[in-house]
Amino acid sequence: MITDKTIKEIHSGLKRRDYSCVEIIEETYKNIEKYDSEINSAITVLDKKSVLKKAKAIDAEHKVSDLLCGIPFVLKDAYVTRGIRTTCASNVLADYIPQYNATVYKKLNDLGAVLIGKMNQDAWGHGGSTENTDFAPTHNPWDLTRVAGGSSGGPAAALAGRMSVFAIGEDTGGSIRNPAAWCNITGLKVSYGRVSRYGSIAYASSFDTVGPMGKTAEDCAIILERIAGKDPYDATSSLNPVPTYTASLDKTLKGKKIALPKDLLGKGLDPEIKNAILEAAEKFNFLGVAVEEVSMPIFDYGLAVYYVIAPCETSSNLARYDGIRYGNDRSNFTEETMRRIMIGTYALSAGYYDAFYRKAQKARTLFIKAYQDILSKFDAILMPVNPTPPTVIGELIGDPLQNLLADFYTVTQNPVGVPSLAVPCGFTKNKLPIGMQLIGKMFTEEILLNIGHQYQLVTDWHKKKPEMIS
Ligand code: GLN
Repeated sequence: MITDKTIKEIHSGLKRRDYSCVEIIEETYKNIEKYDSEINSAITVLDKKSVLKKAKAIDAEHKVSDLLCGIPFVLKDAYVTRGIRTTCASNVLADYIPQYNATVYKKLNDLGAVLIGKMNQDAWGHGGSTENTDFAPTHNPWDLTRVAGGSSGGPAAALAGRMSVFAIGEDTGGSIRNPAAWCNITGLKVSYGRVSRYGSIAYASSFDTVGPMGKTAEDCAIILERIAGKDPYDATSSLNPVPTYTASLDKTLKGKKIALPKDLLGKGLDPEIKNAILEAAEKFNFLGVAVEEVSMPIFDYGLAVYYVIAPCETSSNLARYDGIRYGNDRSNFTEETMRRIMIGTYALSAGYYDAFYRKAQKARTLFIKAYQDILSKFDAILMPVNPTPPTVIGELIGDPLQNLLADFYTVTQNPVGVPSLAVPCGFTKNKLPIGMQLIGKMFTEEILLNIGHQYQLVTDWHKKKPEMIS
């Protein structure tokens, strides 16, 4: 299949005319027709005829100057797209047709990348399993009885199911990394401000990040190079120059240092995931990296900090959906979303603000210091993405507390702002994917992608695809 290939490989094939853009798009739609009735990765699939028209124009001009030109991609349905329904997986926005484009979409569209669909997710980003959606859960292509992860579960499942070549996810507390790990793909949570959030439907504005999902670290580097940078429409986007991420991929890892917080590999972590992480550490040793044990006891407070600040910010952000200006009325919010609005409103109210919100913000500063402390001595921190393999559908959504505990490893990076790359690193004996994450200093995506790429040169976990996808 053409869609098994990486972006660079597809691009070379297009240039050599081994196949046309039309053929790639045909294959993508064929896979959607074949698999998505079972996987349910998409909320909206774009009209095939109009997408093919775009592909034909690309073929006619043979203008494949850019690596992304003619490459199919999908967006998490949290990005506004002019004239294309954007739901954020909520009935509140069930019929919402935006009037403008998210910056990330505009940039990709301008380069000739071909949008295929708007994908399923947990509504408003609230969740880690794509079960909290008004459009039915997304099923994991590796085991249809299980969840794809979340909240960007639709994009991850679409990639595993070869219904797209790359995707744009959104990560507030793990939403790119968690489904990437559970669907065996590669995903990057960028440094806060690295990519413009303009047109990204806000969950928790001081945590939200826009990032790439692909088959490999190299694919993520190619995408990030093109979507990163200052945007006049997003005051929090960074002026930091955008490096040519792909130029660093081939650097040797000799002399690099990775921290392994052993205290986070104890109780609560699935033993098969623990083993996969330890094996990855050995692989890094083999690549010339010095892996040293550290401890991060502050993690005990991570969920508490995140699940105070994120609901506070979301209660404020979702106040705009009052049913007056646009969207359906708020009775359409799911139970999980209502719970978060209530918790946030409570924690922000007079009398409780100091006890909860301000305290959580102070603890957030302690997290920033803890990460700075370790990352001043190391290039990256290695840890699991999920404590367990993908859960059976119904398990997490039916147990709200368990649902939050599943975010243990991914919710502390966003309050701090640091980047983190999720990379496939093994399988359970039941053939369920396992992922690891590599966390770096602010704006060191370059280093993380280099480490991820070198790891993928000596492993082939990322090349495996689900049995049902033939
Ligand atoms: N699972 C986390 C939450 O529910 C993270 C979601 C996200 O990153 N959007 O808040």
